[in-house]
Amino acid sequence: MSGSEDVDAPVIIAGAGPTGMTAALALHARGVDSIILEADPKDRERPGSRAIYVHKDTLRTLENASPGLGQRLVENGMIWSTRRTLFRGKEVFERTYPDPGGDGDLPHFTSLPQVWTEEYMLDAVEDADIDVHWDDAVDSVDVEGDVVRVTTESGEEYVGNYAVGADGAGSQVRKEIGGEFSGTESENSFIIADIAEDEDNPLMQERVFHYDHPRVDGRNVLLVPFQGGWRVDIQCKEDDDPQKMTEDEEISELVAQTLGERYRDRVEWVSQYKFKQVVADRMVDDDNRVLLAGEAGHLFAPFGARGMNSGVADVEAAASAITVALNADVEEARAAEIERYGITRLKAAEYNKDAAGQALEYLQGDSYVTRAKKRLAAKAAPYYEPAGEWLDDAPYGPHGGPPVTIGQY
Ligand SMILES: Cc1cc2nc3c(=O)[nH]c(=O)nc-3n(C[C@H](O)[C@H](O)[C@H](O)COP(=O)(O)OP(=O)(O)OC[C@H]3O[C@@H](n4cnc5c(N)ncnc54)[C@H](O)[C@@H]3O)c2cc1C
Repeated sequence: MSGSEDVDAPVIIAGAGPTGMTAALALHARGVDSIILEADPKDRERPGSRAIYVHKDTLRTLENASPGLGQRLVENGMIWSTRRTLFRGKEVFERTYPDPGGDGDLPHFTSLPQVWTEEYMLDAVEDADIDVHWDDAVDSVDVEGDVVRVTTESGEEYVGNYAVGADGAGSQVRKEIGGEFSGTESENSFIIADIAEDEDNPLMQERVFHYDHPRVDGRNVLLVPFQGGWRVDIQCKEDDDPQKMTEDEEISELVAQTLGERYRDRVEWVSQYKFKQVVADRMVDDDNRVLLAGEAGHLFAPFGARGMNSGVADVEAAASAITVALNADVEEARAAEIERYGITRLKAAEYNKDAAGQALEYLQGDSYVTRAKKRLAAKAAPYYEPAGEWLDDAPYGPHGGPPVTIGQY
């Protein structure tokens, strides 16, 4: 069922973040053209390392959408081999994998700054001759019969058969289809900093979680390596002033105490967050023509790395649904395909929110019982490995992704 009116492209995508660019590539791989409309100018600077941990399913989707793209992330990423956990200065768990990436054509994961991932995605988008209109934010989205009219702030109108809202947390497309976020926000603030690696004398590539780190007044600290640097994630205490902790001297001191003195002046970016745990009340519009994906539809705390990874899983499913819908012979079948996308990806988002929520609850859990459980596990760890493994695992929530979806997340 193709549109009765001429369209600029079958699909109009709002947003050239990782979700929007993957949507365009996944559609292109299925022979469906799209146009991307992006609010920012092309020479924008994107902040921080953000989604460093890229799961194998995401690499697979990218590789299928644009052969070579998943491999390019792997070639430029890093696979760390050791998980280590300390409790008040004492090691309670350590495991080193001889072959952490596994022996498949793609590794279990890779770790690199999101800015690089986006750069490689944009190269793939340009190689595929997909049009990106920069510096022109989507303003309105209207469905009329079998077409969607997308108008931008410059007054341009783009007509497609479908629209994908991949325009991030503040999504205008979500507002246009009457979608609303609901959920919670973390009680604690977190300081997140990117630290440049000392290339002449790099640290061991290991992911370290330190409970009640004695050198930073007993705060929890997570250190994660990525190609070229380190993510330092510090959980603030209730009476901390997070804004003050991001000031030059304060963050440099925190970094010197957690990564080592030689990292003191290597802070490249720092910010403070309270993490939102929210999901939209709908992932598609009433007419089954407009689909939300990525942070336009859901926001999770980063523990478990479900943000960008689930956005990529959304658009793999969206591209598949749109392709089937474009070829459907009857309206009911067309609409049902998009509706199914909305139902399954909403369920996936709820699952991911709950999984990230478990990690957050565990990290923030300050009740006597929770603290006693962590202390007991730390005491038992030298004699009973599962206790140490529990301490190592729990800050990331359950393994794996939602059931009944394409891809893992
Ligand atoms: C500190 C931090 C750490 C994180 N760590 C991780 C992690 O370890 N793992 C992980 O998986 N995720 C992580 N994330 C989340 C990850 O960065 C996001 O999930 C990811 O960027 C979402 O991609 P997106 O394309 O859906 O949205 P965005 O990246 O927000 O992209 C949306 C795009 O839409 C554009 N846009 C906005 N409004 C409009 C409009 N009206 N019209 C057109 N375009 C518009 C924006 O300019 C932007 O380019 C982290 C995020 C932060 C902030």
